[in-house]
Amino acid sequence: MKSQARVVVIGGGIGGCSALYHLTEEGWRDVVLVERDELTSGTTWHSAAQVTNFGANQVMVGLKSHSIRLYKELAEDPDYPINYHHATGGLRLASTQDHLDGYRHFISLAKGMGVDFELLDPAECRRRHPLITTDNLLGALWDPLDGDIDPAQLCQALARRARKAGAEIYRHTPVTALTEKPDGEWIVHTDKGDIHCEMIVNAGGYRCNEIGAMMGVELPVASMEHQYLLTEPIPEIAELDFRVPLLRCPADDFYSRQEKQGLLVGFYEQGCKTWGLDGIDPNFTNALCPDDLDRCIDTMEGTFRRLPCLMEAGIHSVINGPITYTPDGLPLVGKIPGKRNAWCITGLRAGLGEGGGHGWLLAQMMVRGEACYDTWPLDPRRFTRHATVDYTALKAVEDYQNEFRFHMPHEYRPAAREMKTTPLYPVLAGIGAAFGVVNGWERALYFKPAPDFEEQHSFRFNNTFDVVAQEVAVVQNAVGIMEVSGFNRYEITGEGLDDWLDGIVCSRLPRRPGKVALTYLLNEQGNIKAEATIARLAPDRAWYGAAAAAEYHDLDWLSERLPADGSIRFENLTDDFSILVLAGPRSRDVLAKAAPGCDWSREAFPWLSVRPVAVGDAEVLAMSVSFSGELAWELHIPNGQLTAVFQKLWAAGQAFGIRPFGLYATESLRLEKGFRHWKADLITEYNPLESALDRFVRWDKDFVGKAALENMAASGPRRCFVSMTLDTASAPAQPGDSVLSGDRVVGSVTSAGWGHRVGCNLALAFVDPPFAQDGSLLSVEVLGEAVAARVGEICLYDPAFSLVRA
Ligand SMILES: Cc1cc2nc3c(=O)[nH]c(=O)nc-3n(C[C@H](O)[C@H](O)[C@H](O)COP(=O)(O)OP(=O)(O)OC[C@H]3O[C@@H](n4cnc5c(N)ncnc54)[C@H](O)[C@@H]3O)c2cc1C
Repeated sequence: MKSQARVVVIGGGIGGCSALYHLTEEGWRDVVLVERDELTSGTTWHSAAQVTNFGANQVMVGLKSHSIRLYKELAEDPDYPINYHHATGGLRLASTQDHLDGYRHFISLAKGMGVDFELLDPAECRRRHPLITTDNLLGALWDPLDGDIDPAQLCQALARRARKAGAEIYRHTPVTALTEKPDGEWIVHTDKGDIHCEMIVNAGGYRCNEIGAMMGVELPVASMEHQYLLTEPIPEIAELDFRVPLLRCPADDFYSRQEKQGLLVGFYEQGCKTWGLDGIDPNFTNALCPDDLDRCIDTMEGTFRRLPCLMEAGIHSVINGPITYTPDGLPLVGKIPGKRNAWCITGLRAGLGEGGGHGWLLAQMMVRGEACYDTWPLDPRRFTRHATVDYTALKAVEDYQNEFRFHMPHEYRPAAREMKTTPLYPVLAGIGAAFGVVNGWERALYFKPAPDFEEQHSFRFNNTFDVVAQEVAVVQNAVGIMEVSGFNRYEITGEGLDDWLDGIVCSRLPRRPGKVALTYLLNEQGNIKAEATIARLAPDRAWYGAAAAAEYHDLDWLSERLPADGSIRFENLTDDFSILVLAGPRSRDVLAKAAPGCDWSREAFPWLSVRPVAVGDAEVLAMSVSFSGELAWELHIPNGQLTAVFQKLWAAGQAFGIRPFGLYATESLRLEKGFRHWKADLITEYNPLESALDRFVRWDKDFVGKAALENMAASGPRRCFVSMTLDTASAPAQPGDSVLSGDRVVGSVTSAGWGHRVGCNLALAFVDPPFAQDGSLLSVEVLGEAVAARVGEICLYDPAFSLVRA
């Protein structure tokens, strides 16, 4: 066994094998995989191994397409052919209008990734799958490339290719401990000896937290028991001269595919069971959990109604095995937060279909620093402190119960809520706040017009439309107050602050104490990594503020770039403060009344300034910044004094018509201003020039990514960021929807919604350069219709920015 390698991958299921193979494809040959037992002896060997193309976002569709291409190529390799039923096709059934709307959106989204889904009517569904009934069926999404694969053969084929390229695989070699060296490298201790390496990959499947514990990390991964049954041969299937397609049913919570002359049918029962939370028997290998089909009886009833042939079919066998879940159902593929040179590919709940793609993206991240797609939906750093295994288990149960029921727009499910709240939470609840969740933080979405008001979630404009319109009107005409909890905030101190920060952001730094600036951080490839508001508090002290979701991401990026001499220090204040935003033409009046000790005039407190201010007994940091496009201030308030400050502002504001507003209104306001959202409109796939942020790039200094950006500037944009108005008032576009010129896909929507001040249906998008000019006439595929779209100014509301400076 080697004692030194560049990378050690721990675990030989589909995750580990795919990562190993793709590392060799990226040109890293000095890589090894260690497996405690046999390859595939965890979950992989007993997988139903369906390979599908469906994904809730473009990254998932893209990576699944990679799996399908790769598996096809492996299956056709004459030296080691494997069993892969490629392109059997699959049906995702619809029995409500919402299902149909959702599928129409997913068709539009997939089109942008070169994947053609189709919506079928019930008769066509039955033609393609003659064993189903069409009662209560409205149609189905057809995925032509769905199929299934032999999981063991797949892993062996990947391992074989990796070995041929120079990788080594050590079976029956459990990793027993991990040592992080001071230089950031690792020692992997096994029962056969130690391997020193630059990087490690945790691909431990349901044992990923045993490996996590060896490095002091708790990954948000919990396992669920999951069962499928295999039937004896079914005569109707034997009579067909084609394989029946895969089936997925969001109403009856089952899936099925053909297995030999029978069916494989899996259930997502409501009375589901977590697995292994109190520790996993070390001898559980190549093993299954005891059958328990009784748990699935209710689910079976619906299944049998849809597939009546099952009533007569004998059960050949039952498989019950552990399947890993994360809090949002998507896996953890990327950097392990807070650790150097440590990666993971875990939390895979559909690892056979996705594993090829996950390994592909992970290898790119490790070798090139970034993958071809923005991998934020998979990034382990999207979860922070609240995401313990116990929390994950609660979300896993909820997710399992909703396996094929996609999230409706703005749907925040109820399990494991109130993980992170501020003292203002009950106060806002008391005045009617309806809450959603951002990085575990409860945030008000909107304020209910009546106590019994419930949002009717829909892909179309819904019953919150007028509620939001009123909140926007208050902000536009009087003054609104909003809490922004969990805003990511680090205090950075040190004498060399200017030089250090200047080299990290591509934008102009606020150098004078009392100034605030919006800045952008690029990666080494010159694309957008982060967006930060930097407030200069003293010559050697600044606050770095960014989206709540960015907390661990930005912390990693900045701390990896800290000078080794300790001259720059960092303190994470995210949990200590909350923000109250006052926005609207009367915001100055409210502040002057609530905090008369401060001069709030335009001259004394101009736009983009920061001042310490006393509001009653509280010392707060006030910043004149605006995400709404109206005159506005943010007050950064220690959480202990948050409620008192809110009450003071609320009382002072009564004379000026103060009302609360929430995230929905903010979304409308910022779309009209063309203000971007991190990881919606600001992604690592585009640079700041393509993102129409040229004015934030200072070419007269050095910064991370500058050389790459210069090269890209010379070669011209790949796509350009635009704002469009859509010619429909019935539904917003959704992120990922395709932008079309005629029938040709020329772009993708990044975010969208109704602009209540400009009275337009708006969409922000990246489009091919020839279509980015002001006045370009395009269309956006919204719920199956090509809706006329016109490219216009990115900032549609107060483009001169006179209101924020008033
Ligand atoms: C019943 C069932 C049906 C499924 N059906 C499908 C499906 O149709 N389609 C689909 O895409 N997915 C399906 N899945 C999910 C899919 O099988 C998993 O997502 C996938 O197999 C997970 O692969 P993995 O590599 O993450 O984990 P595993 O296969 O569990 O691999 C992890 C490996 O790490 C090794 N390991 C752990 N600890 C150590 C250590 N300390 N040292 C060295 N090695 C270690 C283990 O021995 C194991 O081999 C199904 C799962 C189940 C249970």
